[in-house]
Amino acid sequence: MEVYSSEIAKLIEELGRLPGIGSKSAQRLAFHIINMKEEDVRRLSETMVHAKQNVRYCKECYTLTDQELCPICANERRNHKVIMVVENPRDLAAYEKTGKYEGVYHVLHGAISPMLGIGPNDIKLKELMHRLQGDIEELILATNSSLEGETTAMYISKLVKPTGIRITQIASGVPVGGDLEYIDEVTLLRALEGRVEL
Ligand code: ZN
Repeated sequence: MEVYSSEIAKLIEELGRLPGIGSKSAQRLAFHIINMKEEDVRRLSETMVHAKQNVRYCKECYTLTDQELCPICANERRNHKVIMVVENPRDLAAYEKTGKYEGVYHVLHGAISPMLGIGPNDIKLKELMHRLQGDIEELILATNSSLEGETTAMYISKLVKPTGIRITQIASGVPVGGDLEYIDEVTLLRALEGRVEL
């Protein structure tokens, strides 16, 4: 005999598909939702559907936004000739929190990983190369200091070198394998200011 009726079991199963949600958390969330007011559950589900329908890639930097251009790319006071390459929108958010970076970004949505079968065509690299045909003065590589992040930085550096664009990489004060989003703002700022020429 099943412990839960099929409707609850289905809800637990769906919630359990989310990253970081194990079966215990899924059960806890499912019961929480059942006990919520119906209007609150409706608002939650509608918010999720709307976000899914309206959030897309910025057509310049490929971060997630609900406009054609994200607020950073749309900001004329930012220096559009300096592009910082990050792996994901969370890394972008981490650098934005320092409040000191005035350039724009390019979000790769991943990193090259031969082990996981993720190649250059699986991340937003073609899109970066396309952007570099414009008037660009510096490319700052700020991929994670994991093996994948380093591989990606090296790959991009080799690809971009012939264009003559200045390429720098954030200083290696950032812990190896550490996700950028967990690093404090002071460390990030130091890494940015101490960036080295490639
Ligand atoms: Zn953008």
